[in-house]
Amino acid sequence: MNHASRRIRLIMDLRNSGVTDTAVLSAMERIPRENFVEESFLDQAWANRALPIRCGQTISQPLVVGLMTQALALTDRMRVLEIGTGSGYQAAILSRLCRRLYTIERHRDLLAMAETRFTAMSLHNITTLAGDGWKGWPRQAPFERILVTAAARVVPQELVAQLSDDGGVLVLPVGDASLEDQMVVRVTKSAGKLSSEQLFPVRFVPLVEGVSKESVY
Ligand code: SAH
Repeated sequence: MNHASRRIRLIMDLRNSGVTDTAVLSAMERIPRENFVEESFLDQAWANRALPIRCGQTISQPLVVGLMTQALALTDRMRVLEIGTGSGYQAAILSRLCRRLYTIERHRDLLAMAETRFTAMSLHNITTLAGDGWKGWPRQAPFERILVTAAARVVPQELVAQLSDDGGVLVLPVGDASLEDQMVVRVTKSAGKLSSEQLFPVRFVPLVEGVSKESVY
């Protein structure tokens, strides 16, 4: 089966599994996932699976990308922050659904590869930063939406502080990375007040706190 027919099947699977937002489905159909996976996994680019990328990280499962993106309820006027650029796949999807996407990655090598992909695909509304996403991006805050694509032990308060006061939404997996499942949590700020909902279980690599390793920066 070629990429095109695998892609059609995957989009149908996503719709049947609860990704009903047509803008999200269409962005996922248009962004070629084969541009973001390692060469040895090219044949699985349109499989509904997470796949290994460099630096011991993963490109998320398409279903999780679809459900988390949908949970953000994006509009094309929003400024959005993503933590954990990784391959750049989720960032590319978000960039098609918002005005400007800011994305932070702690591994410079991964970020450089993602930046090359963004340029090659003419995704010009993405701004990147090599740094510690746990701290967010205070100089660019506030953000209407924040998506974390690594599991945080607790909800990072610095990210909550960088959400817009009126209707800001933060979506992130919360839980110990050594546990079987983490839970995707949606935190909403309305008139400065916070509320949170648990959405669905997932399994992500950990959101690393602080910066230490030599491969970073
Ligand atoms: N969104 C990615 C999935 C990446 S996996 C994609 O679509 O491919 C999670 C990523 O979060 C990894 O690349 C990891 O290096 C990064 N990460 C973990 N802790 C981080 C932190 N504190 N700051 C920035 N990035 C972090």
